[in-house]
Amino acid sequence: MSGKKADVYFGSVQHGARARFASFARKVDVILERLDFSTIDRGDKVAVKMHLGFREGYQTVPVFFVRRVVQAVRKAGGVPFITDNPTSVYNAVERGYTSETCGCPLIPVAGVKDRYTYTTEFGFLNVESMEMGGVLHDADVLVDLTHVKGHNSCGFGGAIKNIALGGYQAHSRWNKIHRVGQAFDYWDGDKCTPEHAKELVEVCPQNCISYDEKEHKLTVSFDMCNQCMECVKADRDVGCIQIRPESFSAFQELMALSAKKVLDTFNDDKRFFISFLIDITAYCDCWGFGQPPVVRDIGVLGSRDIVAIEQASLDLIAKAGLMTEMIPPFMKNVDLDPSADLHPFARLHGPMKDPYIVVRAAERLGMGSSSYELVEVLSPEETMKMKAPERVRETEPSFY
Ligand code: SF4
Repeated sequence: MSGKKADVYFGSVQHGARARFASFARKVDVILERLDFSTIDRGDKVAVKMHLGFREGYQTVPVFFVRRVVQAVRKAGGVPFITDNPTSVYNAVERGYTSETCGCPLIPVAGVKDRYTYTTEFGFLNVESMEMGGVLHDADVLVDLTHVKGHNSCGFGGAIKNIALGGYQAHSRWNKIHRVGQAFDYWDGDKCTPEHAKELVEVCPQNCISYDEKEHKLTVSFDMCNQCMECVKADRDVGCIQIRPESFSAFQELMALSAKKVLDTFNDDKRFFISFLIDITAYCDCWGFGQPPVVRDIGVLGSRDIVAIEQASLDLIAKAGLMTEMIPPFMKNVDLDPSADLHPFARLHGPMKDPYIVVRAAERLGMGSSSYELVEVLSPEETMKMKAPERVRETEPSFY
């Protein structure tokens, strides 16, 4: 696929006529048509992989659109089911996702106890293998249905992250992907006294540094580190700690590889990617609470190329920029200097969490092309020229 421009269909939340034919919902339907589900065979089991949120983390793909995707799969002859990690599936009802509202069953990605898995070899840094969700693995077709947002560990949560983390058992997600940055040396215990280690713990505004005095072991949790470099400044005369790009890029590189392993279980013509760029928050849906959107609503994208849809998502977010007044006050060290060439998500989470790293890694792995053609459907310019009804009345179906 590399080297060839991939089609990425785009429907903007903006529309050019006061009419249903111009609406966002209609654009979602058109994109589903353009994606062409005819490669789904009758009876294919279709995994609609979503992030279903957690607790009060409701800013996921609205059930209204999930239902439309599910109906389109059924119309094509597929047998859809929605899948995600067990916790999110079991409490999905709290956020409005049920088999009745979505139109299909919700099944945990690795079975009812998160133990139905396929051991998958990785051999990447400190990760020998991970446990892929058996339910996702066994499906015939993948619809990677994504809510795009920022992410504190990797800068960006998009279509790759949805299957790269969401496609694996909890132990693999939390203890392997989230710890891959530990593969690189960043602290020299011989140079550091316990007193200095405690000083480094104190100086970190993000509480990322911990120190075990008994073991004389200092650990940096890179998930929340925004590379403010306060620890490096405090360490100036000692030189025992380093904040290195590799400690961050490893997460994104492993994400690309783990997404590839999931994609490899599906035929090329049985993979579909749909990404909603609405309610774009700084942190992931898994935090379990609502958050202020930091980028304006943009629209919906659909593609058969995971690299292209990720690149297009990031490019559209870069073009929209941050709504600076919406950045939560607890986010520290946000770089708003316009002269800094940073993606909005890197401004929020630090320059070493450049969200394009995962796109480049995925392209290197042959997962698709970052070169894309953005094909807008029902653009505001187009629908402005179409005749809208002069008066809008209640129509069928109606109570009256
Ligand atoms: S760079 Fe800043 S946020 Fe990261 S560990 Fe050091 S002090 Fe903490």
